[in-house]
Amino acid sequence: MIQLISDKQNVCVVGDDDQSIYQWRGADVQNIITFSKRYQKVAIHQLDINRRSADGIVKTANLLIQKNNPNRLQKLIRDKGIESENGDLYKILFNNQKDEIEWIVGKVHSLIGTEIIEGDKSRKLKYSDIAFLFRSVGNEAKPYIDALKEAGIPVIYSGIGGLFATPEVNTIVKIFEFISNCDNDVEYNDLYINEIHSKLPAQFSIKYDSFKIGIISIQDFTQKQRRISLQGLYASVLSLLGLSDASFHDSDDDVLLYNLGRFSRAISDYEGSREFLTFNSIKDFIWFIRLHAENAYDSGNTDSMAGLVDAVQVLTMHGTKGLGFPVVFMPSHFRQNREPEFGPTLLNTTKFDSNRFLNYPEDERRIYYVALTRSKKYLFVTSAEYKIGGKRRSARSNFFNEIDDKYFITNDILDPTTRKLSEEDGVSEEISLPTSYSELAYYLSCGYDYKMRFIYGFNPGLVPALGFGKQVHNIINLLHKDFEVTKKIPSKSKIAQFIEEHFYLRYASTDLTERFKISALKSLLKYVKMWESDFSLAIKTERPFELEFENSLIAGSIDMIKREEGNEAVLEVIDFKTGKDNNELMHKYELQVQLYTIAAQEALGINTQKALIHFLDADKNSRLNVQTSPDALGTAKEELSFAIQGITKATFNRDARQDKICKSCDWCNLCPKRKGYRA
Ligand code: SF4
Repeated sequence: MIQLISDKQNVCVVGDDDQSIYQWRGADVQNIITFSKRYQKVAIHQLDINRRSADGIVKTANLLIQKNNPNRLQKLIRDKGIESENGDLYKILFNNQKDEIEWIVGKVHSLIGTEIIEGDKSRKLKYSDIAFLFRSVGNEAKPYIDALKEAGIPVIYSGIGGLFATPEVNTIVKIFEFISNCDNDVEYNDLYINEIHSKLPAQFSIKYDSFKIGIISIQDFTQKQRRISLQGLYASVLSLLGLSDASFHDSDDDVLLYNLGRFSRAISDYEGSREFLTFNSIKDFIWFIRLHAENAYDSGNTDSMAGLVDAVQVLTMHGTKGLGFPVVFMPSHFRQNREPEFGPTLLNTTKFDSNRFLNYPEDERRIYYVALTRSKKYLFVTSAEYKIGGKRRSARSNFFNEIDDKYFITNDILDPTTRKLSEEDGVSEEISLPTSYSELAYYLSCGYDYKMRFIYGFNPGLVPALGFGKQVHNIINLLHKDFEVTKKIPSKSKIAQFIEEHFYLRYASTDLTERFKISALKSLLKYVKMWESDFSLAIKTERPFELEFENSLIAGSIDMIKREEGNEAVLEVIDFKTGKDNNELMHKYELQVQLYTIAAQEALGINTQKALIHFLDADKNSRLNVQTSPDALGTAKEELSFAIQGITKATFNRDARQDKICKSCDWCNLCPKRKGYRA
């Protein structure tokens, strides 16, 4: 590709050969090492300052990666001038893995609540600031995760496929199995219910009788439905288990909700790929879990949102690339280095260079380099001579020894530095928020709604009308494009033809879709009739933008109209909404259009003079002007800032703007504020 485009275009390539850790899936570090030799007129700009880590970490990482010389680009990474304090870095080889784990747990406890300084801000250190990095989570992490949990330290982990092994999710799956009578050779009777009830996680305190009656009535109700919603069934089960009790939501350990939220996503993955579900689909869903999902879903993940759940994160060294944490533990290292070999395969290895997929010492060293440099301040590298229960000395990765001791305390002495405590709340500065207006709008209507949706990951049930507005908007787009070619105002038959060809609602039945099509046709006929003059104007639909705003990146797309006023061309931001104009969501809509105006000006450099909301309704189309004076946009920015600061400081109060919002909230079965609101 570079050869195809580089004689006509400039190519900018960004990379770090020392962080090339994907050879096992075909990445070749030589691509970057030999880049300047392969092309003429290459200018190199070195980014040689590590802006994340304190000096002890940067120097340790440098000492390690220099062992890859001369097969790397010659460079020396500098730190940004923050000195490691005595006790920030420990590297200890314990005699026994049990001692190692005890020491680690003690270290986590001692650090929580101490002051951490990031830039010019100081705050208290939280669980979410701590990462445990393993070469293989599946093979190594279990005793550490068990000990952390036992010590009351919340943990989320990835790389172990552990979501369905968690007691809370396991319980839900068992209940689904009972409701659907999943397996022919199992008797789904009272004993079975008793068995599930006896193994309920401690947080679920429902009495046996209520549990049994509840499950059977959910089963009866679901069986009678022609079509079912799995997400709705899930919400009913959670509600029965008492998930709307404040104790679930106000405790410090929110891992349980996080895991239940991830199960909700697994349901959406299944439900979203089917046109509709019937009672029998519950069985199919169980088989989806057994055959696929059990190995594909982790109880944690590495997305930036995970940092907003206050839990220690356990990750693979690979999975941590691009992330940074104030505290990094690198325990275990019980992994013998082996000669690289290409395992048994059906592939004909003479037909390709299989060597480039192998893990050579230089590749392994790069993985360790990446892991070390995830830490900002504290770095604890530990291992032990004997594994728990082991009688013979355990083999260890060579790279544990390769990490130079120079900047570490190497024995189990108390932290020589007295750590100040802090009361200031906040989350890591690493969390920069990729977001959109619709996400921020959820926060603005209720902080807890945002948390349920985007932090825990719960999905609401699917509704047949989902996507109606988008479909109508698409057809407006097509009508304007058609006008550009034909210069004809779209006729009724043309609109009907476009609807027939392009209108599609994923979750609506055929009958319902036909009704939605009629409604769309009426709205669009009104639109064409009332705003015929707009067709001669240039309309730019769906112009994408990315707006950097405080510590967030807001992405979206804007529709704009270009209108001639006198000798001047005036650009107007327009946002199409399906529905009437006198609804309760007006403030939300206005704020959205104001954000689009800010984005047009600041991200796209377009000076728009007007902003409109266009309501597409079958009875009446109307347009409303939205205030875009500097004062109005200033107020809009304050609102957006409130949402972004709230999210990045993990402030998720149950503070619906209006009581009405709770009544129609997707979580009114699960949120303590509206407990019992719905049957
Ligand atoms: S029920 Fe009310 S308080 Fe609870 S999440 Fe919904 S809007 Fe917020």
